[in-house]
Amino acid sequence: MRAQDIMHPEDAKAIQAIKSVPGYERLAKKLLRLGTEAQYKGENLADMVQVTPQSFPDVYAPFKEVVDRVGIKEPDLYVDNDPMIDAYTYGETHTFIVLSSGLIEKMSREELKGVIAHECGHILCKHTLYLTMYRMMESTGLLLGLIHRTLFAPLYFALLYWKRKGELSADRCGAVVVGEEIYQAALLKLASGMKESSGQLYRLVEQGKEFEALKRSSLLNRIQQECQCIFYTHPQPCVRALELNRWKMSYAYRRQRIA
Ligand SMILES: [Zn+2]
Repeated sequence: MRAQDIMHPEDAKAIQAIKSVPGYERLAKKLLRLGTEAQYKGENLADMVQVTPQSFPDVYAPFKEVVDRVGIKEPDLYVDNDPMIDAYTYGETHTFIVLSSGLIEKMSREELKGVIAHECGHILCKHTLYLTMYRMMESTGLLLGLIHRTLFAPLYFALLYWKRKGELSADRCGAVVVGEEIYQAALLKLASGMKESSGQLYRLVEQGKEFEALKRSSLLNRIQQECQCIFYTHPQPCVRALELNRWKMSYAYRRQRIA
């Protein structure tokens, strides 16, 4: 799979804006080489359980299938003791993926593959450098007060805006690997937090259409809803579901599904 096959156009545009900040990319890579990646690895090894063919074969097998399908270098994989449904990836030269125990317990095998493919999509699109920088900025901000939201506010908000758009590319990767229907089922579980599958697979898509209609109904409604999400790291679940549902009609999606 190639990054351009799944990259959302708004992700590509937003990442260019960040890359245009002079010296930013070089500084980010330098900071990572100075030890941040090693620090993350230490934290993961100390606090989580690494997934290997021996330790969690039922998680490793679908993970390996996805990594081979997406065609990326195998990242390290860890399980975090967290009942919430969550997954993330960071790193630049040594990437890793973390899956929460809540995610593994609530998703079916195919849905789990969809979520892992989402994380692999971030790696394929080379999002990880910027995701890692976002994480570093957040933790530095917490240590030094609200520095990231004041001194570096334009960069911080540009990163947040891009992060939301980058999720749409990663969703496409998930849908290509397991099919749009299964990925919609995973999104429903992510939104509801429930183990049970919804009786209405496209409920979030319908909500996405209603949400769009609400925003179009008046300028005030639009401003209210847009302001609501400026601190969000992800687009709302119904926005993700609708975006993906529209993309499944595209030639790019169909071509990737039969590849
Ligand atoms: Zn993501």
